Amino acid sequence: MMTQVLRDKCLCCGKKSLNEIINLGDHSFADRFIPKNKKNLKDPVYPLIIDLCKRCKFIQSRVITSPKNRYIEVDYSYTSSNSEYSRSHWNKFAKFLSNQIKLKNKKIIEIGSNDGYLISILKKMGAEVVGVDASKFMVKICKKNKLNAVHSVFNFKESFNVKKKFGQADVVIANNVFNHSNDPNNFLKGVKNILKKNGLFIFEQPNFAVGVLSLKFDQIYHEHVSYFTSKNIKSILNQNKFNINYMSKNDYHGGSLRTIAIQKNSNLNKFNVNNLISRDRKKGIYKINFYRKMMKKIDQKKEILLKKIAYYKKQNYTVVGVGAAAKANTFLTYYGLNNMVIKFLTDSSKFKKGKLTPVTRIIIKDDQKIASYKKIACIILSWNISNLIIKKIKKLNKKAKFIFT
Ligand SMILES: [Zn+2]
Repeated sequence: MMTQVLRDKCLCCGKKSLNEIINLGDHSFADRFIPKNKKNLKDPVYPLIIDLCKRCKFIQSRVITSPKNRYIEVDYSYTSSNSEYSRSHWNKFAKFLSNQIKLKNKKIIEIGSNDGYLISILKKMGAEVVGVDASKFMVKICKKNKLNAVHSVFNFKESFNVKKKFGQADVVIANNVFNHSNDPNNFLKGVKNILKKNGLFIFEQPNFAVGVLSLKFDQIYHEHVSYFTSKNIKSILNQNKFNINYMSKNDYHGGSLRTIAIQKNSNLNKFNVNNLISRDRKKGIYKINFYRKMMKKIDQKKEILLKKIAYYKKQNYTVVGVGAAAKANTFLTYYGLNNMVIKFLTDSSKFKKGKLTPVTRIIIKDDQKIASYKKIACIILSWNISNLIIKKIKKLNKKAKFIFT
């Protein structure tokens, strides 16, 4: 166990009014895929505990981990252009943005620009783009593709460097990265600093409400510090002098919220999110008892899954997992599914093939590998795109069996 620093205050309202709602035991970083030559490296593990603020209902992880640690020992492996599914999602996102604001000659800064897939589309649509990313490896990929990018773990202090180099933006984008920040209030101060008065701050995050209501707990991992619902997005934005201009749900990551925020002194219109908020509240997600029941149901699901795996193994099936996303690691670690149970995982990303999962040490191979087995049972780890995955596997191996999480 590594030394631990715990969050004892709400990241939104600052009060010490935190209550534990979820405890998944010890986990390493979910995005830590280990190259073969480092397979004996010991993975740092920390308890994965989620707290709910009694006062303002903000939801956050308890153990503080350093964003720098996540990228020092092993390179970050996730790329936005990884799958056809994600490419299509970001293409639609760009179209959506172009319906909100004319992109020609607009200055757009994307925080968490990853391999630059989204900014490359926006650039083609006429915008002047800049990427900011915490991974040096990703910044390198951007530069190779002739995209303007800078290496930085974004916060208020770093925002001055970004502003000095590029000026203020018409649009700031922060998809699936705002929730990674160890200090979301400070992050928003940074966004404010680089945003023009009537500029748009647009961001997408996994919708915590959808996850817990469908018993999917695998969006919970150390890289995710804040867990967003319509309610706590509104709280934290309002507290930092932002209003909501737009909010909608979509299916990305199994359920996401897309929000456009505007500054309080902006001339643009406000958007009412009270309906979204009250729908979640009525389902009980701000009550501690909800989570007791949820964890019981998740443990029941685990028993059923282990029985299914045992059933296939008894019949000499090889059991594998499909989709080596970060979230798969929360699932594998919590359920104790290691390389003794699962022979290999498959993934289409060239950055993941040949690497091993943290803690469970399962090797990642090409999807094609599934074709060579007579008896194979595939656990669908990327459940959010299960239809696409089943189609793909059936093409590779007609006899493959499927196990659903
Ligand atoms: Zn609070």
